[in-house]
Amino acid sequence: MIDVFLHNHNASLHATPQNLSYLSPINASPFTVQNSNIDLSFFDAMSTHSNIVSLNSTINIDSCIDEIFENFDHVFFVDGSVKPDGKVGVAIFSPTLNLNLQLKLPDNLQIYYVEGFAILQALTYAKNHSLFNFCIISDNIKIIQDLLNYSFDLSPHPFLLHSIITLVPSSGSSHVRIKWLPSSSNCTFLETVDSLASKAVSLPHITEIGWTWHELVHLTDNWVWRLWLEKWGSTPYGSYQATYAPTSNQSIFFKSRRSEIIAHRIKFLHSQLNAGLFKIGKHPDGICSTCGVSESNHHFLFDCVSTVDLRKDIRSLGVVSPGSWNYRGLTSNNRVMDIIIKYINSKNINF
Ligand SMILES: [Zn+2]
Repeated sequence: MIDVFLHNHNASLHATPQNLSYLSPINASPFTVQNSNIDLSFFDAMSTHSNIVSLNSTINIDSCIDEIFENFDHVFFVDGSVKPDGKVGVAIFSPTLNLNLQLKLPDNLQIYYVEGFAILQALTYAKNHSLFNFCIISDNIKIIQDLLNYSFDLSPHPFLLHSIITLVPSSGSSHVRIKWLPSSSNCTFLETVDSLASKAVSLPHITEIGWTWHELVHLTDNWVWRLWLEKWGSTPYGSYQATYAPTSNQSIFFKSRRSEIIAHRIKFLHSQLNAGLFKIGKHPDGICSTCGVSESNHHFLFDCVSTVDLRKDIRSLGVVSPGSWNYRGLTSNNRVMDIIIKYINSKNINF
């Protein structure tokens, strides 16, 4: 199974577990040292102002960008985009270098990784072109904070973080900054890079990344869910999967643990009604003492003489169409489920 997964993602095992101790030199004093190349001043200024008017009076994004262009030879605007369908694009845009780089990455990567990858690409470009005086602007607060504090332990992609930090030029003559600016502004450069990243998801060619387990673990999650849902849809296993459409979402939040248990017993078609007890050898015949037929969840909900009131309550809600008056229809509706659970609780039924 793992082989199929790796094959599907063009990843191979030799690209995987790097030695964790490799990270230790930079990680020496994680909580006392801050990375002086990282600039969160705009974020700090925003945090201390309660509204945008008072913010604009002291710190303005346009003047901030003007200042960056005055202080650095080159400026990179970087951005990443992850679409709802899992397609991924990144862009690196530099007006000073006339650079306009767009890449499409493998599907379903996390936005944190993608934004970090964009920063890494700008640094790689700078290294390959021997640039030592430049500023990179990103709008991803989480990765910039992790870079500032060397938070390898908190980062979902510590090797990416490490790669970024080691690629920042460190000689005395270099002048390099990675700066956070908010994406929600009308600055043309920020809009340009945002649009480039968004369009990059449609590029024909996928740029491969250096996979580590940190990226793969997240992808296996998505991948296993998808396989499972596909299997559920094509060959449902058991009465629950045959009754419900495939989903990975939990549909309801419950007020109590008891209600949650009841809901699961309704949905999984197992309960402590007589038919359920009979299955596990705790009832002689599983028959409903009122009606004389098997006391299943289905009988309880639709046919039992003693639950007439429950069906009246459900009908009076007016949310179930005649076509949905079946087990799946009723129990897929959260308001109906709520009525059923309340009914079971109020009658003290051992469900
Ligand atoms: Zn009955």
